[in-house]
Amino acid sequence: MKHASPLQLYVHIPFCVHKCHYCDFNSHERCEPAWSDYQQALIAELKQWANTPMFMGRKLHTIFIGGGTPSLAPPSMIKAIIDAASHYCGIHKHAEISMEANPGTADAENFRAYREAGINRLSIGVQSFDATELRWLERIHSADEAIQAYNIARQAGFDNINLDLMYGLPGQSLNGWLKSLKRAIALKPEHLSCYQLTIEPHTKLAVRHAQNPYALPNDEHALSMFFETRSQLSDAGYQAYEISNFSKAQLKCQHNDGYWLYNDYIGIGAGASGKWDQQDQGITRYSNIRTPERYIKSIIEHGNAVNSEDKLTGEHAAGEAFWIGLRRSSGINRTTFKRRFDIDAWKLFSHELQKWRNSDQLAITDDFICLTETGLPIADEIAASVL
Ligand code: SF4
Repeated sequence: MKHASPLQLYVHIPFCVHKCHYCDFNSHERCEPAWSDYQQALIAELKQWANTPMFMGRKLHTIFIGGGTPSLAPPSMIKAIIDAASHYCGIHKHAEISMEANPGTADAENFRAYREAGINRLSIGVQSFDATELRWLERIHSADEAIQAYNIARQAGFDNINLDLMYGLPGQSLNGWLKSLKRAIALKPEHLSCYQLTIEPHTKLAVRHAQNPYALPNDEHALSMFFETRSQLSDAGYQAYEISNFSKAQLKCQHNDGYWLYNDYIGIGAGASGKWDQQDQGITRYSNIRTPERYIKSIIEHGNAVNSEDKLTGEHAAGEAFWIGLRRSSGINRTTFKRRFDIDAWKLFSHELQKWRNSDQLAITDDFICLTETGLPIADEIAASVL
């Protein structure tokens, strides 16, 4: 193989106290999740992947435990997963090991135990500091509980914290959004993710919106929120390293950045997916069975829970890597891209992209291709116009 990217591990914890109506993640309400069975299945699956030729002998550069709500999980389970990752794959000394937490489940003792288990980055799903917005989103926590969760995390020793926020909610004014953003900045987290609400198909929100449309922001209003977010965060010392992600110096989320760099990853758990590079510049990708109980059963009976597997040719993989990479503020490194796919990144879509270059929404140098400040908010539109 010409290239072996840093290897990452994603662990999916699919359980939630309540399914938020906008959520299209693979999350399931369960009163009493079968933690022990799920833990055993995760570790059995990890062992199986770690022993395959494409992942064998490759130490993990990052681990991300996401969900669902991982902060519902017993700390002993989080420790067992990290120990298994160390045992079966090996973990780099300075690996980023992230976990997601819902403020409605924050517990000081658990947070301390997660930290002791090896979690060194916590991502807290705050979404908003406005009580009405939190109710509309169907979050299980208040703004005060979000602040409390942040403080508990700090006291537990977390020195790398992300806060997730959401803007573009129905009826939300620019000032209303900036109030939440400023409260988040005042807490001084190392990282902020600010996503615009999108109505995903097959969610309860999509059904409700179809029956009785919500007053979502128009394009102009959404753009003003996007640019004001960037401006406020830049003033507060955060670097925008991806369309929706901002960090203090050197503290970008290495795991997510690895996805945008098209790195290989093992995914374990219900609905998780993984990907590896093939010898011929193509890739293989798999997705697991989504229902937790069926996932556990499949691991017990067959040793794996793969539901689907896709292979992409080198040309398709290069195209996908191009569009994912364009999300990064620094864009695509043409030398690295050429080394990996044996094709110049610009030549791939030069015909289709010329008009975006002419309108200064795409910039090209000998070394990089990247979206400009005005191109970034329409990244999806540009991709859709080409694909
Ligand atoms: S807490 Fe997160 S994962 Fe769970 S339903 Fe809400 S948005 Fe989805």
